[in-house]
Amino acid sequence: MQLSDHSLRQIDEAYLERLGDGALRALSAKLLLDLKEARERLNQTSRNSSLPPSREAPWEKPRPADATTEGDEPPKASVAADMTPETATDAPTDEDAPAHAVDTPPMASKRAGKVKGAPGHGRPAPARVDAVESHGSAECAGCGASLAGHSGPAYTGYYEVDWVRNGPGWVVRIIQHRFEESLCACGHVTRAEPVRTVEDDVEIGGFRLVGPGLASLMVALSKRYRLSRARIQEFLHDWLGVWISTGAIHAALAETAAIVAPLEEELILAIQHSELLHADETPWPEQGASSLWLWVFVTRQAVLYYVSHRGQELARNVLEGFVGVLMSDGWQAYRWVARRLRCWAHLKRKAQGLADSLDPVAQGFGREVLAVWNDLREAVQNAREGPPGVSLRPAWEGRLQAFRARCEAARGHSHAKTHALAVEFLNDWEAVFAVLEHPLWPLTNNEAERALRHWVILRHISHGTRTPQGSRHFALLASVIDTCRRRGHSPWEYLQTAITRRRQGLALLPLPL
Ligand SMILES: [Zn+2]
Repeated sequence: MQLSDHSLRQIDEAYLERLGDGALRALSAKLLLDLKEARERLNQTSRNSSLPPSREAPWEKPRPADATTEGDEPPKASVAADMTPETATDAPTDEDAPAHAVDTPPMASKRAGKVKGAPGHGRPAPARVDAVESHGSAECAGCGASLAGHSGPAYTGYYEVDWVRNGPGWVVRIIQHRFEESLCACGHVTRAEPVRTVEDDVEIGGFRLVGPGLASLMVALSKRYRLSRARIQEFLHDWLGVWISTGAIHAALAETAAIVAPLEEELILAIQHSELLHADETPWPEQGASSLWLWVFVTRQAVLYYVSHRGQELARNVLEGFVGVLMSDGWQAYRWVARRLRCWAHLKRKAQGLADSLDPVAQGFGREVLAVWNDLREAVQNAREGPPGVSLRPAWEGRLQAFRARCEAARGHSHAKTHALAVEFLNDWEAVFAVLEHPLWPLTNNEAERALRHWVILRHISHGTRTPQGSRHFALLASVIDTCRRRGHSPWEYLQTAITRRRQGLALLPLPL
């Protein structure tokens, strides 16, 4: 949008008459852009505007059923009320708030939140203000003349609570933001406005109670320390002395996830170009959705999470063009990848089960697998200490042949688990023993399993996510946090900078290397 409603209301024929040629042309250009945008919006229907392309996950085919049920986790309290100082008559109302709880489930008779027409309440002015930041306009919205050096009265404002570095420690800082209106020589009054953008259906910027440092702290408390919104609220109150509604906490987390959403592409590229990739997945509950999984892809430099179904689509899309080596468990979604490694920890556990069983054939086969595992591990460990690039394959050829014969014999055995393990070895033979050619490759999928462990504990505490958008935001934040940590950088500093920049309308910086 080029011109605010406030500016547009001031522009009439008399005003246009007074403008010079250059100013008139510049203003026409703005009006034209606004007109086109307004026309496009007018022509939008649910068919051509339901979701922005950035919103569609790479593996997803359009599923019409989703479009109608998607909504954000409903905030428990009004976000907008928190962010609106009493003085701000033009400040956003509930209707301007990001798309929380816009869609009502068909069966619900009453939607969450404030009833329309009920008296609202504003946040009382804070007891102290540490700094005042005035925001003016650089140029006149009407004639385009520079307004540098102009300072006018504030027409609206809001308070921001932030958590910032102060010497060796951290302090709570309350900033009053004032937005000025400036009278130009041409007679037009231009109002400064906070920067707002929309990413992933979530508003970035605008009147924000929660400052970048505090938002980053909330992400840390939510994702790294696994606190619920209510516990974050309690923590901030008890230890920082600030009271923030759970709705505003939720809004800050959602905004931060939307802010880092463009990094997904960067992470996918890092994974597609990696030499060695670990992949794993674990069940992930999302309210109303069935059989979703949390997927993780781990390289030396990047960690990427997704919440998705367990089909091949996700793996196919994320790994498009991948030519490296993939370590995974036996899940079939990866069978198509040309160069694969199989996690020996899984095979070993199954073999141990057989060795402990009462069936003599199963016992024998299980023990044989465990013996192969012990020798393999020892050989690989020795080779890693020796000269690099030496393949163990030639020395192991006889052993492999003998073991293959054992597997062939165990296949078709009446003991079901013996048969299954033998088939698993035979089907995935190359992936299971590829490590012999490159002893520096890993024997197990520990990297990926370790990455998931943190979130599995979160899953137990939080019972998963509540909406598709909530799942996506969770996966985005988890990816950024773990990638930063893997690269030895503070995720919190990165997030704080990212929030600051995007609220100013600046581009996101790439993740630190
Ligand atoms: Zn002007």
